[in-house]
Amino acid sequence: MELSDRFVENHEICALCGGLCCKTYPGMYLSPERFERIYGKVASDNFLSLLERHGLTFKVCLGIPIPIPRFTERGCVFLDDAGCRLSFSERPCECLLFVPVEETVIEGEIHCYFPKEVSYVECFRKWKRFYSLRGIDCAELLTY
Ligand code: SF4
Ligand code: SF4
Repeated sequence: MELSDRFVENHEICALCGGLCCKTYPGMYLSPERFERIYGKVASDNFLSLLERHGLTFKVCLGIPIPIPRFTERGCVFLDDAGCRLSFSERPCECLLFVPVEETVIEGEIHCYFPKEVSYVECFRKWKRFYSLRGIDCAELLTY
């Protein structure tokens, strides 16, 4: 099953919640192929500038840099009073995989969950293979 087959959206619950997850932790772009479909072809000489230009940075997971929206003390840079400024098709996979549940709104703490069938480790490995194919040195990226 593709990651995108598991994407969910529940405007009603998330609007009432106001983006507790987005204020706590922005979602990662877990699929390099989807990342390229959104932001264009990645190469060793454009990756960092591409992240910068689109308000992104990376988070290091198992030693692998994974693209993620920039985060400030107010939360994800794409969150505003009306919700996420990115269109559904531009949002990080992790945001779209997170399953909204009503208890989060009722209790004011996150009960929404990430589907256990999706393997983070496999996603991170895909990024590692992708960097290798694109001639991008992960160790060098980590020095920025
Ligand atoms: S914490 Fe849950 S209910 Fe709130 S915005 Fe995120 S996914 Fe939606
Ligand atoms: S990209 Fe959008 S949905 Fe994802 S954390 Fe940021 S504001 Fe929330």
